[in-house]
Amino acid sequence: MESEEDEQRNYAHHHVMVVPYPAQGHINPMLNFSKRLAKSYGLEVTFATTVSIYNSMNNPDDIILDPSSSSSSSSVLQLATISDGFDQGDVDLAESGLALYHQRLESEGSKTLAELIRNSPHPIDCIIYDAFLPWALDVAKAFGIPGAVFFTQACTVNYLFYCVHHGLLKLPVSPSSFPIAVDGLQWLHLLDMPSYISTEDSYPVYRQMLLNEFRNVHEADFVLFNTVYELEKEMVDSMSKVCPLLTIGPTIPSLYSDKRIKGDNDYGMNMFKLEHSSDCIINWLNTKPPRSVVYVSFGSWISLSTNQMEELALGLKATKLNFLWTVRSSEVSKLPRKFAEETSEKGLIVNWSPQLEVLANEAVGCFVTHCGWNSTLEALMLGVPMVGMPQATDQPTDAKIIEDLWKIGVRVKVDHDDHEEIIVRRQEIEFCIREVMEGDTAMQMRMNAKKLADVALQAIGDGGSSDINIRDFLSKLQLLTKSRNHI
Ligand code: UDP
Repeated sequence: MESEEDEQRNYAHHHVMVVPYPAQGHINPMLNFSKRLAKSYGLEVTFATTVSIYNSMNNPDDIILDPSSSSSSSSVLQLATISDGFDQGDVDLAESGLALYHQRLESEGSKTLAELIRNSPHPIDCIIYDAFLPWALDVAKAFGIPGAVFFTQACTVNYLFYCVHHGLLKLPVSPSSFPIAVDGLQWLHLLDMPSYISTEDSYPVYRQMLLNEFRNVHEADFVLFNTVYELEKEMVDSMSKVCPLLTIGPTIPSLYSDKRIKGDNDYGMNMFKLEHSSDCIINWLNTKPPRSVVYVSFGSWISLSTNQMEELALGLKATKLNFLWTVRSSEVSKLPRKFAEETSEKGLIVNWSPQLEVLANEAVGCFVTHCGWNSTLEALMLGVPMVGMPQATDQPTDAKIIEDLWKIGVRVKVDHDDHEEIIVRRQEIEFCIREVMEGDTAMQMRMNAKKLADVALQAIGDGGSSDINIRDFLSKLQLLTKSRNHI
């Protein structure tokens, strides 16, 4: 068997370009995968994000890997930029502005990605592109470069969209569409569908984008999924029969997974500036007893209604438990008046947190989450049981995975307000938090999470399913590169 150094030398002259969709939940897993390719497998990786995201980063140079810190002298990760047509960051991402944004991302992104490829000092052997950006494959193919599509969502979600794209699941869905007559998906109900499938009108631009993911997947040379084979086995087996894929997850910084990559302590590319420093947040947690704090976060873009924020705030308050709540600056005005002052003895409200460090802190007893896929995998890896409060897109499906497939959390039950809008009442939030913090099944959920984290750890470790798949990807890429060079 090759030593790690031999393997790194083997791939040292391979150069891949990674192109994420410009959002935190896409940058994090793709950046982490890039680091792994550079550090563990010795590739040269160029990570191409948009000009506006690059400019908004606090210390972009911090994530550039220092070649001297790796056992391979050639492994390197460098940053580059493409344009989304809004280089000044003056973009309106509300639904009304989204269609224009995606149009310009595609037209300007294609143009500037092509320039980047043309001007690259080292030839590029593969473009690893986000499934939200199928046009990146068209650019790669125009240069005769192999393309690897990277799906950042759960296999279950990807499979659902695959089925919709191929007419195996007809829209609009109704109760009579269930159980879905597709192997591997029969355990899902209407409530568990991604919002773009269950609700016809929700975010039509995003919905189109998700359906578009599969428009040219059959032309991609590799299909990579950020999940763990053993954790979604039935779905992966079923989908693999119709769409060969490689599971390569979890893409969590090495400090919180296999500890194989020195210095890989966080994702490293924050789109939000922390108003409370990481030290301040962690010091606060360190003053709290083990498993006494409820951590609350709804990720990087979900926005709750003012009514829902009030119910959540009052539900948290009613538990009388300690809490750490990430409320992004754009959401702060929705907090009930004087809430922060009145709960300051128990709670800390921050605009953004070092989430992995928080989840790894022993004071944290449960995670109230919107069930974004990255947050879900992070909580699993760090053994923190969840209260799932899914809002949109893939989150309802992730909540189903958390509650029923993995049994590492509970999902809140929803009600309707006076305007027939969906709402989760404060009593329900209090009830679910208590169940996960103190209920009979709380310990069992923690144990389940610990067991599954071990499974995920083995998958990414030497000889595990994800490690084998990454090596498979690289050795096939090597063959493709050789044959291209001989033409
Ligand atoms: N995150 C963070 N600090 C916060 C909230 C979120 O660092 O206060 C990170 C989190 O660790 C995750 C990402 O932001 O990696 C959010 O991705 P996810 O898929 O969970 O949700 P999205 O933002 O895409 O809805």
